[in-house]
Amino acid sequence: MFWVKRSTKLAFMGGFHAFPGGQLDKEDTNVPVAHAGDSDATLMRACAAREFFEEAGVLFALGVERVERERIIAKRHALEAKEKSFKQILEEDDLQVDGSALIDAGRWVTPPFAPRRFDTWFFLAWLPKGQEASVETGELESGEWIRPADAVALWQRGEIIMAPPTLHIIRTLAANSARGDQMASALVAAPEARRGSVRRIEFRPGIFLFPVKTPTLPPATHTNCYIVGGKELIIIDPASPYEDEQRELDQFIDELIAEGRRVREIFLTHHHPDHTGGTVHLSKRLGVPVAAHRLTAQRVQHSVEVSRFVEDDELIELEGNPGWRLRALLTPGHTRGHLCFYEENTGAILTGDLVVGIGTVVIDPPEGNMRQYFDSLARLLSLPKLSSLFPAHGPAIGSAREKLEEYVTHRTLRENKIFAAVKAGAALPHEIVEAAYTDVHPSMYGLAERSTIAHLEKLEEEGRVRRDSSGYRAN
Ligand SMILES: [Zn+2]
Repeated sequence: MFWVKRSTKLAFMGGFHAFPGGQLDKEDTNVPVAHAGDSDATLMRACAAREFFEEAGVLFALGVERVERERIIAKRHALEAKEKSFKQILEEDDLQVDGSALIDAGRWVTPPFAPRRFDTWFFLAWLPKGQEASVETGELESGEWIRPADAVALWQRGEIIMAPPTLHIIRTLAANSARGDQMASALVAAPEARRGSVRRIEFRPGIFLFPVKTPTLPPATHTNCYIVGGKELIIIDPASPYEDEQRELDQFIDELIAEGRRVREIFLTHHHPDHTGGTVHLSKRLGVPVAAHRLTAQRVQHSVEVSRFVEDDELIELEGNPGWRLRALLTPGHTRGHLCFYEENTGAILTGDLVVGIGTVVIDPPEGNMRQYFDSLARLLSLPKLSSLFPAHGPAIGSAREKLEEYVTHRTLRENKIFAAVKAGAALPHEIVEAAYTDVHPSMYGLAERSTIAHLEKLEEEGRVRRDSSGYRAN
């Protein structure tokens, strides 16, 4: 099969391995397509053919065998440069998208953790005779031919990250490699491949992400509960206080237990209710203890019984294939007792609310502390191996280093604006917010003011600003 690695710079699924593809374009409606079926099927084939041509250089068109290779390459460049539309590219040589070459291979709907959700059509196609697939770097870092079984092995060793449909497709291709004619029907056999809800989200082996609805801060609507391990499992942040959501999570955990696994312990990243809401229920139901940092335990003492304190640098080893070594890292900033969990074998980090895949992290003093927050980001950046991030909100992030650096840069820029505002004479927090957050909607000024105070406290500690009865002044 031909697959690609997405650029680590992409906001959505950056650093992931995937297949070429993209979004429907207005112009796809006018593209000539033969043998496709109903209007949706026709439209989506036009989109798939256009995207595949642009990203991988393969043109699924009737009559394309008449066109010389150089001319096909020139067409691709014209499409990329937007000099010609896909319709023009086809019509100038009397070509039509070959709908029958693009075989239905399922439709997957992005689970609710994602800031952007897609209803994605997948197609199976054989490389047309005489054509070659290649990737030109930009949105894609690389593209190559690989045996599906080898791709599964790479994933199993924790070397790459993939979204659930990609993993499902590759596993199915690997299992059916001897029977090409059965591949398409095998691909659509799973309910998830027919727009069913995607329950088993395993971006890396043994790291299951289960989003549950919580009373969290918009734009997020869900918190990710993580279930990690093989034969032995731990559960991190059973977050939802809502009964129906708890039931969904219970069912999923039951499925894992039915596979012969056992739950050892529940961990909390921090005390916020959108992370701890389902803890008591799950702990009782499974009869397993709860572990958290002592500062988190203090904050939840009236609602959750924490049986054991997790110390900074504690190692949690989980048996199974390939085995997991999770290092608990005390990473304050969002809250004082915040823990991240660093998987030492693969360099994956479960980041709790230190880094999120949707929205921004709130630093609200006195619990929140900007200086500690910067230190915690720096600590993650200094880890020996960095691959992907698994935040408590939003999808997994395939490019850990880039994302962490982006966070540091973003906060530093904001701090510079705040310092500049103080130097220019803004003294009170709300005045400073108005000057430093011109890019943010005024409805967000309340939260922005909390972050601004956190930045000012940091600047004060560093001796760059001082505070007197009339407000803040630059030193
Ligand atoms: Zn939080």
